[in-house]
Amino acid sequence: MENETVSKNFIEQIIEKDLAEGHCETVKTRFPPEPNGYLHIGHAKSILLNYGLAKKYGGQFNFRFDDTNPTKERTEFVESIKADVKWLGADWGDNLFYASDYFDQMYEAAITLIKKGKAYVSDLSAEEIREYRGTLTEPGKEDPYSNRSVEENLELFEGMKNGEFEDGSKVLRARIDMASSNINMRDPVIYRVAHMTHHNTGDKWCIYPMYDFAHPIEDAIEGITHSICTLEFEDHRPLYDWVVTELGYKKGPEGTPKQIEFAKLYLTNVVTGKRYIKRLVEEGIVDGWDDPRLVSIAALRRRGYTPESIQNFVELCGISKANSSVDYAMLEYCIREDLKMKRPRMMAVLDPVKVVIDNYPEGQVEQLPVDNNLENPELGSRTVPFTRELYIEREDFMEEPPKKYFRMFPGNEVRLMNAYFVKCVGCDKDADGNITTIHCTYDPESRGGNSPDGRKVKGTIHWVSAEYGKKVTVRLYENIVNEELGVYNEDGSLNLNPNSLTVLTESVVEPALMEAQAYESFQFVRQGFFCADYKDSKPGQPVFNRIVSLKSSFKLPS
Ligand code: ATP
Ligand code: MG
Repeated sequence: MENETVSKNFIEQIIEKDLAEGHCETVKTRFPPEPNGYLHIGHAKSILLNYGLAKKYGGQFNFRFDDTNPTKERTEFVESIKADVKWLGADWGDNLFYASDYFDQMYEAAITLIKKGKAYVSDLSAEEIREYRGTLTEPGKEDPYSNRSVEENLELFEGMKNGEFEDGSKVLRARIDMASSNINMRDPVIYRVAHMTHHNTGDKWCIYPMYDFAHPIEDAIEGITHSICTLEFEDHRPLYDWVVTELGYKKGPEGTPKQIEFAKLYLTNVVTGKRYIKRLVEEGIVDGWDDPRLVSIAALRRRGYTPESIQNFVELCGISKANSSVDYAMLEYCIREDLKMKRPRMMAVLDPVKVVIDNYPEGQVEQLPVDNNLENPELGSRTVPFTRELYIEREDFMEEPPKKYFRMFPGNEVRLMNAYFVKCVGCDKDADGNITTIHCTYDPESRGGNSPDGRKVKGTIHWVSAEYGKKVTVRLYENIVNEELGVYNEDGSLNLNPNSLTVLTESVVEPALMEAQAYESFQFVRQGFFCADYKDSKPGQPVFNRIVSLKSSFKLPS
């Protein structure tokens, strides 16, 4: 995809300038997830971007859990996040870190600021701090505690650390500028008292650093050069710079670490935010964080997406400074393109109706040879059993067809894929008029589906032997929210698509598919790509999830 004519994105331009001008010697990036949920497709973009830049410039990629906020963090998420990053192919080598391992250094950093007169302990309540902060049009007011002496501040801060004060009764604030036009610079809180147990440090701390203070220190300790984050942090950049400069890490305005923002990835018709996914999980609307309808990385993997398809997708999205939504169909395009040549093409009938070939010998079975993938001979071939009784898709037969219907109808001849030409001679119906059996005759001369005398048939349909085919559960998906109708209802509830999941229990597949292993994927001819579900499949009894159908109106933007 990439070639010399592709222009460099703005982050690459910044990095190359920094390298050329000697602001950094090497490139160090990081992916810093908060372990408070599962990663989603948006995080994949951030992971692959950071990993890709480190790789491109021969630098280092750090994987760091930003676990400075003990309330929402859980070990379960740490494990799932690791599995996801690994699966995506971002290799962090030995560079796995936990922000909580730096709590001592952060504490020391706070003391450094206090000693420089750049931080003070305040007794204002959260609400008072908000009131004093001012608004976009009004400057803030001085904190009445801002004039405490360095000694007093040191003593009080130590008291905070030693658990002498109640949660919320005291905070440490950076002394910057209460009149700044940027509200983030109006003496931001950098430490709070919180008697909470942390998943890593246990009860050692009862004070915790705020994100805006902790994050630049984490970057600086690790020697990160380019700290890439999303746009909502743009207004926090002056504070980031203030922290690393005051602490002596950053030399000069062009020095590193430096924060660079890019636009988040949003997809049409899907829910990406952690909080929304969490809500779907907690309200029991989906089957866990990896429900195949979600776009968490675990869900995409379960659905049958490959790391390559996601890498490709992220590359196609590009990076920008302007928020926009990417068409979900582009993600589907990427998985289709990836699987097209790689996976075998099998026969499965999702909604079966029986066909009897009246002139085919009863009890006879032919093992017909079939290429696994006509476009990729490397995938080899297999045999498929052909018998007198078969199943075809109910929609492949019509008793009274409209014009241009080329599939099966009385009097019409079609090709059974890889097998024979058959001509429909009629059908049986039940008392309600439902078709129960279709009758055909076959031409023994057309074995393999080839015309014996040059005559043509317009329709080719797939089939499964009734005797040898196996019944399986197949699940079809649609988007879970319908964006055209709005993601939310007026009352704040999610506007869900009632047809997001269809479970088919009568589908029949050719026998070879019964061996499918968890996560193994296939093309079911004419129906799409399907993947054996790792959760619900049992040995010898797979459950198939449709990854994506075969057709799309999606075109790659040129
Ligand atoms: P969410 O808003 O979905 O809960 P988050 O930003 O709170 O996500 P973090 O764990 O803090 O999740 O994010 C880790 C990294 O992933 C951050 O650098 C963040 O900017 C980036 N990131 C999160 N969402 C997206 C997205 N949609 N597109 C690109 N990068 C993202
Ligand atoms: Mg976050």
